[in-house]
Amino acid sequence: MLKAMKPEWREIPWDRALTAASPKVACALEKALAGNDLGLEEGMTLATVEGNDLLALVKVADELRRRAVGNRITYVVNRNLNFTNICIVGCAFCGFSRGPDSPDAYFHSTDTLLAKSVEAVKQGATEVCIQGGLPKDLDGYYYVELLRAIKARLPELHVHAYSPMEITYGVEKTRLPLSEYLLMLKEAGLNSIPGTAAEILDDSVRRSLSPNKLKVRQWIEVIRTAHSLGIPSTSTMMYGHTELPEHWVRHLFLLREIQKETGGFTEFVPLGFIHSQTKLFQIGGARAGHSPHEDLIVHALARVLLNGYIPNIQVSWVKLGFEGSLSCLEAGANDFGGTLMEESISRAAGANFGEYVSPGEFRAMIRTISRTPAERTTTYKIRKVFDHADSEERLPLERMPVFAAAASHPPLMATGY
Ligand code: SF4
Repeated sequence: MLKAMKPEWREIPWDRALTAASPKVACALEKALAGNDLGLEEGMTLATVEGNDLLALVKVADELRRRAVGNRITYVVNRNLNFTNICIVGCAFCGFSRGPDSPDAYFHSTDTLLAKSVEAVKQGATEVCIQGGLPKDLDGYYYVELLRAIKARLPELHVHAYSPMEITYGVEKTRLPLSEYLLMLKEAGLNSIPGTAAEILDDSVRRSLSPNKLKVRQWIEVIRTAHSLGIPSTSTMMYGHTELPEHWVRHLFLLREIQKETGGFTEFVPLGFIHSQTKLFQIGGARAGHSPHEDLIVHALARVLLNGYIPNIQVSWVKLGFEGSLSCLEAGANDFGGTLMEESISRAAGANFGEYVSPGEFRAMIRTISRTPAERTTTYKIRKVFDHADSEERLPLERMPVFAAAASHPPLMATGY
């Protein structure tokens, strides 16, 4: 099994890699290069590649990335606000949630969240990403009031908030129709929503991960309705737990179908399962998280299967680490995600890649793979292209030991967010 992108792969051109692939894999990849949609069987062929076939998949995905979005690697300056870790849902893959009486349970006040937002803007953030647990006694209008409070103080800040699970909870609590509830959130200042809580969009897999979580049908309904109201979303998939390659393929096809209809997905973000602090792993209910081999396949597969529909494939550096992220950015991905400034969900499940990457660190890492850094907005408008290195750029040296750890000990945890 592959640990990360092999250095000797870097120089191999995609067309040479293609000639070394097996006929079935080469045929599927040529079809994708010609701009045609792949079918289920072709997706399955690509989802299980090894050796020269994996090399061909990775190289063709990288070429499709180049054709779709060029050589820039984008990032957004943002801050995560996880307002509470109290949650009643009980997802077995989650290391983040706590009961209300747990000594480390928290619920930040609106004033605290506002202060964190103001601090983020002072540091150059253009976005806050707000998600949290689902406390039993949460007021269904809490989500609306928090948006109003932030927008009253920071009207220009992009608020990317509330997973489909949280939106479903708000609907349940307020008993409003979904579209009315979403419209209320939009009017209160909601700019976009995270397409999290997707895990794997297959109810049988979801039952084993979290029987209390919203069903596939509900996830789709929230996303479709949001898109129809002009609220874009990301799309995600959690891999590395109980699922099979077939589930990746079906999940990606489902996202592709939604995107054909709504055009509302800004990006696709694969999220490797961080296993170590989760009940699911501890009771033997899942494999030990995502492997570097799976990381490469999933990112490359996403580029190939979503080609022509979802142009941006994002790496999650909190799940992959930096070396893993750079490998995936050479395997079809084109976006480094956000600076985050505070990331408690993956960390609670055992991830150890820190809470913040500065824009300068992003740029320095991007240059190590000879690509051009660019800062973007949440919806992928380019704010600034950095054609040349600047004085703020530095590799995250203090994180070098983590680079090494990522290479030697691949599956370094994650949660479902
Ligand atoms: S993943 Fe989200 S909904 Fe599930 S237990 Fe954790 S915080 Fe709650």
